[in-house]
Amino acid sequence: MTIDNFKFDGKKAIVRVDFNVPLNEEGKITDDTRIRGALPTLKKVLADGGALIIMSHMGKPKGKVNAKYSLSQIVDAVSEKLGVPVQFAPDCAKAADAAAALKQGEVLLLENLRFYPEEEGKPVGIDKEDPAYADAKKAMKESQKEFSKTLASYADCYINDAFGTAHRRHASTAVIADYFDEENKMLGYLMEKEVQAVDNILKDIKRPFTAIMGGSKVSTKIGIIENLMDKVDNLILCGGMTYTFAKAQGGHVGNSIVEDDKLQLALDIIEQAKAKGVNLVLGTDCVAADDFSNNANTQVVPVGEIPEGWEGLDAGPETRKLFAAAIEGAKTILWNGPAGVFEFDNFTAGSRAIAEAIAKATADGAFSLIGGGDSVACINKFGMAEQVSYISTGGGALLEAIEGKVLPGVAAIKGE
Ligand code: AMP
Repeated sequence: MTIDNFKFDGKKAIVRVDFNVPLNEEGKITDDTRIRGALPTLKKVLADGGALIIMSHMGKPKGKVNAKYSLSQIVDAVSEKLGVPVQFAPDCAKAADAAAALKQGEVLLLENLRFYPEEEGKPVGIDKEDPAYADAKKAMKESQKEFSKTLASYADCYINDAFGTAHRRHASTAVIADYFDEENKMLGYLMEKEVQAVDNILKDIKRPFTAIMGGSKVSTKIGIIENLMDKVDNLILCGGMTYTFAKAQGGHVGNSIVEDDKLQLALDIIEQAKAKGVNLVLGTDCVAADDFSNNANTQVVPVGEIPEGWEGLDAGPETRKLFAAAIEGAKTILWNGPAGVFEFDNFTAGSRAIAEAIAKATADGAFSLIGGGDSVACINKFGMAEQVSYISTGGGALLEAIEGKVLPGVAAIKGE
């Protein structure tokens, strides 16, 4: 079922959203992006004459009630954004009466799901090494089913609009879907957009396809690099991993960040790219600094000729041109991870060159997806969010999807 085809009139919808918003010391929301992200779905249900039961997690209360993570703190903000009063159920597993009393157009927000260990389904207070762990886990899986069934009993239909947790098989993100038939469960608008964006880069690829992987380490990106190797035409590897590649090829990288146990892996990636006909673009020059700080002295040197005591913190001018050339003609673009230590204003040039080339390609009709925390922070820092096709809201979930893994939250609704 899809949210556009379902008849919400007179029905109650239980909606899993990601309201895990950052709060300051006074419990005030400091960034409401996630609430705004769920509004189209929530408003659609209300506009069609349905009633809403909204559920979410906040923070990591680890299966215990903790006022610091109470969703009661966001009731007013949700109410204001939805434009209707929002009722609050202080115990998410004991909200049957409040849910039953809901009338058309009314909204009930459930307390933090993670106050119950059943939400994540992990046994608490027992070590993984403990011989009794396996039994505890089995028992927890059973009570997770009960918990999910209780949540499901509140409503006529289920909507999952929490992409940020779609890579987890939790009660509210996946198990609950077992208690609704196909006709009564669906993805929300945000989830649909995220799934479509991933399909654009993994399935319906318009060529040439350029992927840009940056960040600090090869090791955390290797799953994605391997999955993309079969799909891309151009693969730019930048950021801190540049120096693992440079050292693997016999270069001197000074104090630059290097994973010494990944040198062979770097050589294997170079070989794989050759074998698969992928144009692998690695940095040739870099901006080296004599200190890991914004005000360090700098010089431009080849990536394999960094003097002792210096470290590469950004892509050099020649490299920036190579990156731009591999991006500008592309029709599909994925960017994850900055090309330098973009948090320091003096080392943003590499990431900025990438962002500008992506904006240009997008204006020329390319589909561009930016995802993973730091590249999103980068695009926002440059004020260029409007110039790319799609910015993913899901860090871990997006990365797992790009690795080619099935997301339990999506599979529970759409099948494998
Ligand atoms: P990741 O979380 O792996 O995507 O890495 C993001 C981080 O990589 C950012 O905080 C950047 O500052 C950092 N980074 C990018 N380039 C470099 C570099 N040349 N040296 C050290 N850190 C870097």
